[in-house]
Amino acid sequence: LVSNRLQCVASFLPKGALFADIGSDHAYLPVYVCHLDKQATAIAGEINEGPYQSAKSTVVEEGLTDRIEVRKGDGLAVISANEVNQVVIAGMGGSLISAILQEGKEKLAGVGQIIAQPNVEARAVRVWLQDNGYRLNGEAILEEAGHRYEVISAISSDITYSMTETELLLGPYLMKEKSDPFQRKWKLEIEKRERVLKQMKKAKSPDEKKMETFRHEIELIKEVLT
Ligand code: SAM
Repeated sequence: LVSNRLQCVASFLPKGALFADIGSDHAYLPVYVCHLDKQATAIAGEINEGPYQSAKSTVVEEGLTDRIEVRKGDGLAVISANEVNQVVIAGMGGSLISAILQEGKEKLAGVGQIIAQPNVEARAVRVWLQDNGYRLNGEAILEEAGHRYEVISAISSDITYSMTETELLLGPYLMKEKSDPFQRKWKLEIEKRERVLKQMKKAKSPDEKKMETFRHEIELIKEVLT
C-alpha cells in the first residue's frame, strides 16, 4: 500500500512517535507508522476538503481512529504548541515546506524533530532549518518510478552552525554518501542548468545574475561529483 518514499520518511521517526503529518492526503503515512508501531500516535493535517475526507475514511477503514486524529486546516494551524514531538511534511516543494514552517513557527515549541521530503528545492528547507534552530541529523535520497526524492531530518538544537553553499544545495549527508540516485540526480541537474543557460544566452537581454548563479552551481556540483 505504502510507497518506498513514504516508508523512507517513516524510517526517520523514533519508536513511540507522537507526530503531525502536515498535508497528509490519504493519511497513508500515519496509518503505515501506526500499524508498524503500536505506541505511535498522530495528527493528520489537510487543507483541502477532498484529501481531508480521504484521510478520515482511511483512518476509519484501518481501525485507527483512537490513534490518528484527522484535522482540517492550513499547515501547522492544526496543531497547538507542545502537542506533538515530531512534524512531518512530505511530497511538496521545498519552498512551500519552508513557508509552512515559517508561518507556523510558534507551533513548533516542543517539536524536537522535523522530517521534510521536498520534491524539489530541498535547499530552501535546509536554509530554513539552519536559520531556525534545527540541526540536520540525517538525509536520504531514493528513486521511485523514475523520480528522485530527498528526505531531510533535523532535530532542535541550541548550537548554531552553518552549512557551506554546497552542503545547502546538495545536502551534507547526501554529498558524503554519493549514492547512485544522488549522482544521477545531480548529473541531470547539471544538464538542466546547461540547457537553461544556452537558452538564456540567446535572449535579447539575458538575466546575467541568474546565469552567474547557474554557472556557479554547476561548478559546485561538479566538484562533488568528480
Ligand atoms: N504527504 C503526502 C505524501 O507525501 O504522499 C501527500 C503529498 S500531496 C502531493 C500534498 C498534500 O498537501 C495535498 O493533499 C494538499 O492538499 C496538501 N497541502 C498543500 N498545502 C497545504 C497546507 N498549507 N496545509 C495543509 N495541507 C496542505
